[in-house]
Parts: sequence; structure tokens; C-alpha cells
Amino acid sequence: MIYRQLALMLTDRCTAECSFCGLSCGPSCHGLMDMSLAKKAIDEASIMGTFERIGLTGGEAFLYPELIKEILEYARAKGFEQRTVATNGFWGQWSDEKTDEVIGSLSSLVSFVSISHDAFHAEYVKTEYVWRAIEALERHSIPYSISIADVFGDKGAGEFLASLDDKAFYKQYSIYPLSAVGRAESLSDSMFVRYQNKEDTVCYPEGIVSVNWDGDVYPCCAPGIFATEFKLGNLKDSSLPYLLTKTRCMRYINVMADPVRFRRLLEYATDVLGIDLPDKAVSGCELCYKIFSNPGITDNIASFMDDQYHDLLMSRLLGEER
Ligand code: SF4
Ligand code: SF4
Repeated sequence: MIYRQLALMLTDRCTAECSFCGLSCGPSCHGLMDMSLAKKAIDEASIMGTFERIGLTGGEAFLYPELIKEILEYARAKGFEQRTVATNGFWGQWSDEKTDEVIGSLSSLVSFVSISHDAFHAEYVKTEYVWRAIEALERHSIPYSISIADVFGDKGAGEFLASLDDKAFYKQYSIYPLSAVGRAESLSDSMFVRYQNKEDTVCYPEGIVSVNWDGDVYPCCAPGIFATEFKLGNLKDSSLPYLLTKTRCMRYINVMADPVRFRRLLEYATDVLGIDLPDKAVSGCELCYKIFSNPGITDNIASFMDDQYHDLLMSRLLGEER
């Protein structure tokens, strides 16, 4: 597995408390990454030589603009040219002066901003604030896109886009299907867009490794992963190179990223472990969450995954697929 992007989840604190938040963030959360941990993660990603991008996420990263600035200055000094931030755009409610001061100070540091806004976010962040945030990004020539969660029903991406005024034209959007993870598990099951047959789903970690505000490291950035046992370890008592090469869960991710063995894992989880997996899913990540959110699962599955790992190594050594 080659890792290209380091996602630093700066905080679980958020101005919103969206009913679908896979990370269960909100105003009453108080986790915050300290600069020494961010530096350690960036230093070690730099040493590994494969990482190209540093992405800051939350919670709501813009609650801490000074920390964003400090981290991105450090990442730039370490040679990372791609430096991104994800936000819900709440800061569009700031005065023009404050917005220009903050966004102006970040303009040479941030290469891309992803703004999450859809029918769920709009319950907490007014769309007019998001447009003001976008206008500020445009004033300071910072590229951005708007990320929209899709579900069936009146909160769907199509319905939301249709409700927007003319300002919505000519913007760049990315639309993704919502998974039943985290707080979204309590939403009506009929809302989820489950088009994929279970046996066709895949694990696609996209070369992203996530570091939580408290130092916990996860092998992808899917929202459900943080509520699973699929943790590589903690950066406060380990190193990124070690966690990304030597740990048990890292062997698991190598197995899972192989489509044949991911299918075998789903069969094993259903047939041997008795985990109830639906025939249709939003994605492989939704099924992964259903498996790895079971307490004790990483121990229960260890011998199966170790067998699969050795099988995978052998087939690669022999240049054959089986
Ligand atoms: S989905 Fe995003 S904006 Fe909503 S509570 Fe979670 S982190 Fe905050
Ligand atoms: S299937 Fe699991 S490990 Fe793979 S990308 Fe999705 S959440 Fe991450």
C-alpha cells in the first residue's frame, strides 16, 4: 500500500451537529490536536517520501484558523505543495473584514478548500453563509469545491441542488452517497442509496492515512473507520513508518484492498462469524464498518486475515492470482 495523503483531523469540535455525521462531531466536543503532534506526523510523512498532500479536516478546522496557518506553514516548509482544508463554511457569517483577514492570511498556504454543504449541513449553516465563504475564497483565488451527501428522499443531492438559486450555477460539486455509519445509523434505512451488490463492493483506501486529534492513526479517511477497531496505533507512542508497515491492521488493509480477498472477508464475516451483512450496500466501506465496529473483531478475525495475507504474498511472489 502506497500512502500519498496525510489527513490530520484537527478537532472533533464543530459548529454543527449534523444528524448524519459519521464522526459524531459537535459543539460539545473539545478534542484538539496540538502543534507538536501535527509536526511529528508531518515530519514522519516527509521522511517516508511517498506523501504528496497534507489535508486538514475536523470537526470544523476553521474554528482554529491560527492552528491551520501554523500547520500549513510547517507543511509548506517541509515541501508539501498540496495543502487542503475541509470546512462546513460557517465562517461565511463573519464580517467581511474578519473573513478577508483570515482567508487572506491563508491564501498562499491553502491549495484547495472542500466545503461540505447539503440538506443536512443547511440545518446548521445557512446557505447564504456558504456563498459568502465562497465569495471570499474567490476573492483570494483559492480553488474550492462543494461536497454534497446524497440520499433518497427530499434531502437528496438533486433536490438540494434544485433548491439553490442562480449562484449555484457554474460551481464545482462532488456528490457522494451517504453511508449508515456514526450518527447516520439512526437515520431511516430507506434513505441510503444502496446500489452495489455486496459481492461487487471493494475496499479503496485511496492512499490516505488519517491521524485523529488525539494521535490515533487509521488506514483511510472513510467516516466510519474512526468508530471501528481498525486502528493502526497511536502516534504519541509510535511512528508513522512503523504503523504503516509493521502493524496487524496494516496487513489487514493490504488484504482488503485486494478485491478477491475483500470478497472472501465478506463471506467469512457472514458465514463463519455470523455478522449480518446486507446483500446491497452503499459501498464496501459500509460493510467494513459493520464488520470492524464489532468489539473484539480484530482478534476474532486474526487467523483468517493472516492466512489471506500469506496467500496474497505468495501469489504476488509467484506472479499469479488466486
Ligand atoms: S458532518 Fe461535518 S459539519 Fe456536520 S457535524 Fe460532522 S464535522 Fe460538523
Ligand atoms: S473498506 Fe474499510 S478500510 Fe477500506 S477504505 Fe473503506 S473503510 Fe477504509
